[in-house]
Amino acid sequence: MLEQVDPPQTVPHQKAVRPTFLPFSLPDLGEDEISEVVDTLRSGWLTMGPKTQQFEANFRDYVGSAEAVAVNSCTAALHLALVAAGIGEGDEVITSPLTFCATANTVIHQRAKPILADIKAEDFNLDPKQVEKKITSRTRAIIPVHMAGQPCRMDELLDIAHQYDLRVIEDAAHAIGASYKGQRVGSMSDATAFSFYATKNLTTGEGGMLTTNNEELAEVARNLRLHGLSHHAWKRYQAVGSWYYEVIAPGFKYNMTDIQASLGLHQLARIDQFTEVRQHYAAIYSEAFAAIPEIQIPVAGPDLTHAWHLYIIRLTPDALTINRDHFIEELKAENIGTSVHFIPLHLHPFYQAEFGYAPGDFPITEAVYQGAISLPLYTRMTEADIYTVIEAVQRIVERHRR
Ligand SMILES: *Cc1c(COP(=O)(O)O)cnc(C)c1O
Repeated sequence: MLEQVDPPQTVPHQKAVRPTFLPFSLPDLGEDEISEVVDTLRSGWLTMGPKTQQFEANFRDYVGSAEAVAVNSCTAALHLALVAAGIGEGDEVITSPLTFCATANTVIHQRAKPILADIKAEDFNLDPKQVEKKITSRTRAIIPVHMAGQPCRMDELLDIAHQYDLRVIEDAAHAIGASYKGQRVGSMSDATAFSFYATKNLTTGEGGMLTTNNEELAEVARNLRLHGLSHHAWKRYQAVGSWYYEVIAPGFKYNMTDIQASLGLHQLARIDQFTEVRQHYAAIYSEAFAAIPEIQIPVAGPDLTHAWHLYIIRLTPDALTINRDHFIEELKAENIGTSVHFIPLHLHPFYQAEFGYAPGDFPITEAVYQGAISLPLYTRMTEADIYTVIEAVQRIVERHRR
């Protein structure tokens, strides 16, 4: 009798280097997005207007928040949330060292101090216990970062915030489509900031959204995103508008445009489909890499929907004869684009010089950073592309196994 042999998931070492370079990220823009932009260009109304309002309404409905304020970046949304929450000179705001610099820079723009707290290795997110240790009489807010699209432990963080009377402003740059215990990210805390940067799960080229359930906060943000002009001043060039406005605060130039919103409307309509593809590809990666002890795979926690913005593997310490940087070089030679998220804030010269942070301050973050590689994960990849990444990783591990 013939023996039943399961076909192997992938065939390691057989296929050659892929013939074309696989970029780390590509936006997924369809004909609907393109036609909507053309319609906007033909309409004569380019800047913030009816399409931005429609995008805000749809976004609010999608995340389940009372309010959504469209802006030109996640950075702007974070900044507006901090201003609207009254964060100012001498205040302390606790956040993760494993984030993009904008998270901390917006705090500094308010003359407040970013206080870093270490993460948990399981999900790369703020460790609530470490957060609690950093609370002082000056602490005013926490900025949880939903790293890679995996929601933070929001119930624990919201409990701490409640106990110490702190605001919670979420950096959800990676987390459109994610949910935590049945609630969508964007509906749970004082304010949430989303990014529509070109590499993010939903893109408008550049763009962002601030969501909140607090009407007053939304009103302040709406005013400040357009120079601090009084309500409806953006309509001043429309038939229903008036030439008259009043400046009620020294605001910013943070508004979204209808060109951006044209993309956003159709990207939002496709976001659940995008997330499903990302989840499917992440599952293929994880099944293959689970068999390689030299690679540690990212794991989604219970009670949440992971948006899989990033698929971050970690090289098991001392398991290979090469380090992470060398591994990335070999992936490049295999025609695979990668990235690293992120160089921890406390390893950058500015935060060291300004706040006295130093290597060794956040050991979990540093250990994660040391071995972290973000592999390509986006909807324009084919399943065959995913397998070329898996095979490249397998070949490199085979070559450099200890
Ligand atoms: C991309 C990103 C931002 C900044 O988003 P912009 O829209 O470019 O301002 C902030 N935080 C994190 C974690 C990000 O990845």
